[in-house]
Amino acid sequence: MSSIPKIVIVGAGYGGILTAQQLQKELKHNEATVTLINRHDYHYITTHLHMPAAGTDTIEHSRIPIAQLIDEFKVDLVKGTVKEIIPNEKKVVLEDGSLSYDYLVIGLGGEPETFGIPGMDQFALTIRSINSVRLIREHIEYQLALYKNDGKPGRLNFVVGGAGFSGIEFVAELADRLPQLAKAYDIDFNRIQIINVEAAPTALPGFDPELVEYAMDVLKRKGVNFRIGVPVKECLQDGVIVGEGEKIEACTVVWTGGIRGNGLIEKAGFEVMRGRVKIDDFLRAPGHDDIFIIGDSSLMFNPEGRPYPPTAQIAMQQGVLCAKNLAATLRKKELHKFVFSNKGTVASLGKGEAVAVVGKRKIKGWVAAQLKKIVDLRYLFIIGGIPLVLKKGRFF
Ligand code: FAD
Ligand code: NAD
Repeated sequence: MSSIPKIVIVGAGYGGILTAQQLQKELKHNEATVTLINRHDYHYITTHLHMPAAGTDTIEHSRIPIAQLIDEFKVDLVKGTVKEIIPNEKKVVLEDGSLSYDYLVIGLGGEPETFGIPGMDQFALTIRSINSVRLIREHIEYQLALYKNDGKPGRLNFVVGGAGFSGIEFVAELADRLPQLAKAYDIDFNRIQIINVEAAPTALPGFDPELVEYAMDVLKRKGVNFRIGVPVKECLQDGVIVGEGEKIEACTVVWTGGIRGNGLIEKAGFEVMRGRVKIDDFLRAPGHDDIFIIGDSSLMFNPEGRPYPPTAQIAMQQGVLCAKNLAATLRKKELHKFVFSNKGTVASLGKGEAVAVVGKRKIKGWVAAQLKKIVDLRYLFIIGGIPLVLKKGRFF
C-alpha cells in the first residue's frame, strides 16, 4: 500500500482550480497525490454568467475544459458528482463510487439562498452554473415566442428578485439584450418590462452611495424599473407577490437574492451559518486539521468583525494559500494566516458602462467598463496564461 498522502479537492471553481494549480507548483515529486473532483469536465467563469444568461455572450466564453488548466501528470481529474462527505471516515462519496483522502479541500461553491420564500425553489430561475443560465437564456426567448402566439402580457415582464451585484449585472444585460430580441420577435420594446425588486432601502446595499445612484440612473435610462425597499414574499408560476401583497405578473422570475453554502457541508455534520463553515485563520474547518474549506462555502470575518462577502476574489486568494498551507502541513512547517488583499470591486452595467471602487478611488462609465474587462482578462491570465486570454478573452 502506498504511503504517499492523498489530497482530494472537491469542486473546480475559483477556489478549487487555484488550489490545484498552486499545489502543482508547491509539491515535490511523490510528496502527495492530488485528485480534483468536479461535476463537469469544465471550469466555469461564474463572474461572467449574467451575460450568457441574458444572451449577450456565448456560453463558450464562460467555460474552459479543466484538462487545459491542470497538468494531468500532477493532478488526477475525476469527473463526478459528490453526494456525501464523511469526515470521520475520511471519505468522499460520489454518485458512482467513493474516494478516501488524507487531506480534503472543499471548494464546492454556494447555492441560491431563498430564505424559505414560498415557491422560490420551484418557480424561480437562478444564475449559478452553465446549465442554469442555458435555461434562463432559452426561457426568455421562449416567452417572447409564446407571447406572439397567446398574447399573455406576463410573458413580457421579466422580474429579477434582489438588486445585489448579481441582480444589477443581470438586469443590465437584460436591458441590452431585450431590445434586440423585441425587434427579432416583432414586439414593441415599450411593452416589455424589466423589474428589479430589492428588499433593502437601496440597490447594491453597502456599496458607495454615489456609485449606486449612478448605476441606477444608467439602468433606468436603459429601461429597468426598480422597486426598492420592497421584499419579494412569494414566487408563483405566473409572477411574484411583493410588499404588502401586490402581485406582479411575470412568466420569468430570476432570483438573485443571495447565496448560502453548499448543502453537502451541513449534511457532513459541520456547524454552519447560512450553510457556510466558520473556518480558522489557516482555512481549516474547526476541529478538522485535515479539512480545508474555501470559497463560498466558507465564512471568515474581516478585522472589523464583519463577514467577508463570498466573492471570486477571496476564493482565489484562499485557493493559493490553501495549497501553501497543505504543503506546509505535509512538511510539518508553520502554516500562514489568511490575509485578504482587496483589489477593489467592479460591477458591470452592461455594454460600455460599469461602476468601480479601487482603493479610495471611485470610477464610473466607460473607464470602469474597461477595468471590468481587465479584471476578467487578468483571471484568464492567472489560470491559463496568454493562450487562454487569446482564446476566451473578451476585448470589445
Ligand atoms: P464556484 O466557483 O461556484 O465553484 C464550485 C465548483 O464546484 C463548480 O465547478 C461546481 O460545478 C462544483 N460542484 C458543486 N457541487 C458539486 C458536487 N456536488 N460535486 C462535484 N462538483 C460540484 N465575484 C467576484 O469577486 N467578482 C465578480 O465580478 C463576481 N461576479 C459574479 C457574477 C455572478 C452572476 C455571480 C453569480 C457571482 C459573481 N461573483 C463575483 C461571485 C463568485 O462567482 C463566487 O464567489 C465564486 O464563484 C466562488 O468560488 P468557489 O470556488 O467557492 O465556487
Ligand atoms: P447578495 O447577497 O450580494 O445580494 C442579494 C440581494 O437580494 C440583496 O441586496 C438583498 O437585500 C436582496 N434580497 C434578499 N431577499 C430579498 C427579498 N425577499 N426580496 C427582494 N430582495 C431581496 O447576492 P448576489 O448579488 O447574488 O451576490 C453574491 C456574492 O457574489 C456577493 O458576495 C457579491 O459581492 C458577489 N458578486 C460580485 C460581483 C462583482 O464584484 N461584480 C457580481 C456578482 C456577485
